[in-house]
Amino acid sequence: MEQYILQTTGQEVNLAEDSNARFEAVQENTHVVVKYFDLHTHSYHEKVLKPVFGVCNYWYGYESAKSLGQIHWHQLSWREDRQPHQLLDEAHQDGCEDDEYAARLSEWANENFAMTSMLPAGSDEEGEPRTDLWPPPEGTAHPISDDRDPLVKMLMDIAVSQDAILEDRLLLVTWVGLHSGSDYCLRTPHHPQQGLQPRERVCRMEFGSEFRPGKKVRIGPETMEDHNGAPRLEMARDHPRMVQHSQYEMQSWRANGNISLILSSSCPDIQALMILLR
Ligand SMILES: [Zn+2]
Repeated sequence: MEQYILQTTGQEVNLAEDSNARFEAVQENTHVVVKYFDLHTHSYHEKVLKPVFGVCNYWYGYESAKSLGQIHWHQLSWREDRQPHQLLDEAHQDGCEDDEYAARLSEWANENFAMTSMLPAGSDEEGEPRTDLWPPPEGTAHPISDDRDPLVKMLMDIAVSQDAILEDRLLLVTWVGLHSGSDYCLRTPHHPQQGLQPRERVCRMEFGSEFRPGKKVRIGPETMEDHNGAPRLEMARDHPRMVQHSQYEMQSWRANGNISLILSSSCPDIQALMILLR
């Protein structure tokens, strides 16, 4: 990109160190950004999603979020081993209660995808969350300075030590993994809702409302219905605005990502047949 800008405008820029130049370069060269995003996404599927997430079939489509100003993709994937479908079928056969069902699913998601809704700051000796490491308004951490910006690094730039990887994860989650309400997600409800102020909008991503943002903090996992009536897993959470995510995905893709497991109680063999017929 630096060479391209030099050739097309005669300007010398340092994109790694100059965040203003980086912002301008992205705004002025969207054709390069889209091409790069497409190549990067394709390679990510082949090199990470297939081997790390056990994915065998997938479909994805690009979209651009106007208020976020960013290209992103939506995707549907199938795993080779048909999990967690198989696991859920077994839980039904075993007659599991709701909490046992959610516990099995949550354990599977954490073991296989490192999925979590916990902010990686941990807790103190009394078991209270380390809010001194959380960004405002919930916590008191200092803003991340430009020279610690995790988005200009790649995973291979991070030292291979537990501390360095954990620090990188904390920076990334703080930077891109906390949901903030915006015109993109906030909607005026069609019908009056309890507890809302006049004209207060509600988050369609289920992160509360305009003046009371965030989800309920919870000690254990639970399955609940989303606004479309589809069952979804809510894992243990210590931060109200933490996006439920995969640690593997967060640190390898290095942007905000949201994984939902499709919870179906139908027989896994039927799903296999559907894939065969596609
Ligand atoms: Zn929202």
